[in-house]
Amino acid sequence: MADTLDYAAMLAVALGEARQGLAEGGIPIGAALFDADGTLLGAGHNRRIQEDDPSVHAETDAFRKAGRQRGYGDKIMVTTLAPCLYCSGLVRQFRIGTVVVGESENFPGGLDELRAHGVRVIELDDPDCKTLLADYIRAHPDVWHEDIGED
Ligand SMILES: [Zn+2]
Repeated sequence: MADTLDYAAMLAVALGEARQGLAEGGIPIGAALFDADGTLLGAGHNRRIQEDDPSVHAETDAFRKAGRQRGYGDKIMVTTLAPCLYCSGLVRQFRIGTVVVGESENFPGGLDELRAHGVRVIELDDPDCKTLLADYIRAHPDVWHEDIGED
């Protein structure tokens, strides 16, 4: 796969979604699904609070917004935060070829597990993604622990 794609610009779309989520009073995690040539297919953000729906994660939202696709091997899921088990399951179920991760400091996810299953994982270690979510976690630890399924 050509690596001429501007991953930072693609992450900016996901980060914009995360900021929109924050503006709505939600958890600031965003994601976007792109075609192999970098065309945006769909974008979304965590809407646990907004819709009282724990199943709307950033990645699942972006995936649904993208609608039906013929295949996912050449698709790129870009997310501000390392995917949780649920979203990693989505990636594996539909064989999404590439996952671009804004940061994995606030939540490590299972990136090695994804790699072990043949998913190309690109970590951008983005400071804006880290700060946005870290500030939210500091202000709303209860909501955060609910989101990641911890007491
Ligand atoms: Zn998730």
